[in-house]
Amino acid sequence: MVRLHQVFGTSIVDGIDLRRTTWHDAVHQRDPEKESPSLQKCFDFLEKTSRSFSSVIQELHPELLIPVSLFYLILRGLDTIEDDMTISLEEKDPLLRKFDQITEKEGWSYDGNGPNEKDRELLVQFANVTEEFRKIKPAYRDIINDITQKMGNGMADYCIKAMDTVQDYDLYCYYVAGLVGNGLTRLFVESGLANPALLKKPELQESMGLFLQKTNIIRDVREDFDDNRRFWPREIWSKHVDNFEDLFKPENKEAALNCSSDMVLNSLNHADQCLFYLAGLKEQSVFNFAAIPQSMAIATLELVFRNPTIFKKNIKITKGDACRIMMQSTQNLKLVCEVFRQYTRKIHKKNTPRDPNFLKISIACGKVNHAMIVLLIFRVLTRPPDRTIYRIHLPIARSQDISRSTSSQRPTTTHRSRSQNPSHDERGQMGHQ
Ligand code: MG
Repeated sequence: MVRLHQVFGTSIVDGIDLRRTTWHDAVHQRDPEKESPSLQKCFDFLEKTSRSFSSVIQELHPELLIPVSLFYLILRGLDTIEDDMTISLEEKDPLLRKFDQITEKEGWSYDGNGPNEKDRELLVQFANVTEEFRKIKPAYRDIINDITQKMGNGMADYCIKAMDTVQDYDLYCYYVAGLVGNGLTRLFVESGLANPALLKKPELQESMGLFLQKTNIIRDVREDFDDNRRFWPREIWSKHVDNFEDLFKPENKEAALNCSSDMVLNSLNHADQCLFYLAGLKEQSVFNFAAIPQSMAIATLELVFRNPTIFKKNIKITKGDACRIMMQSTQNLKLVCEVFRQYTRKIHKKNTPRDPNFLKISIACGKVNHAMIVLLIFRVLTRPPDRTIYRIHLPIARSQDISRSTSSQRPTTTHRSRSQNPSHDERGQMGHQ
């Protein structure tokens, strides 16, 4: 049955709320009448705190609906502490590093956020989350706690660590986004709704988060700069300008564009792995949940590629494009590949020999096309998601040959010395709003 449906929040397109304008077949629907008051409260917080993921989460298969919702809220709570610069490092550090223990504490709440922190109420009423968290299967709790512990330690490390090298940049993105891909994959497989072969491909899991995070970091460069946050690594921008702020000066337009191309190339290198990952999902609602943000990301990457406007203001894909992409991304992998093909062609067309990364960007676009050919050879694209994906172990294995791991430097988190870093990421979890 078709119903008027909330697709995405206002963040996707130019401040236009799609929630009342897009028609979409929901795969599954919540039944609030069967929910406890604390669970209803959790879903209220999900809608308040997640601009992009609330609706796709709420359409997830009933087996995953509550674990994924709580996973989101717990990471959102963690992020709300990380982002709040009114909290002293002495207070923030142990909160981040021990947040996985907090999820087990009955009645825990926190009112130490500043009055202007938009999600402070989530932590004030966090007892609703911990109450529901205790009710889910221990296997799901263990996965969520493991990711929370690793992410919290990573965030605490980066409270004092500068974004100098590309390795620093990859590591930060791994902590705040790659780990989400890992945790979600483990939840999907634990529920029986994804191919267990995905567990053996950490580079595919992490690329799902890294592609979203890195694309948003490029898109939001002006907004972050205005808020005194810098995520573009010095190793990249210093090749093009002497000082980071020079990127925003009109006289440096060509250097700034070349620098942004460097950043786009870094993100685009994850795109082929996202397609291989999507081939491992076998339930329609899980596929939709994972595919929609990836399609939006490739469209956003094309929008920001060689676009000088990113240094002047925040830009987003149009409402029309967002609606079309959403419709295509809630059907099958073939149509998602069509979205990727369309936007990589546009990137290829905008690419210019004046750009120092001209050849590398062409090769990266070619890798996305190559991924589609591999998937086509193994006949994955034309099968419906709920029937296919058991048999796709061959293309997933093959993807190893043509991909590279971006997290070869994957860390063992350590408790480092403490000081406050003025840069922080206010992007949400689950791969960014
Ligand atoms: Mg953050």
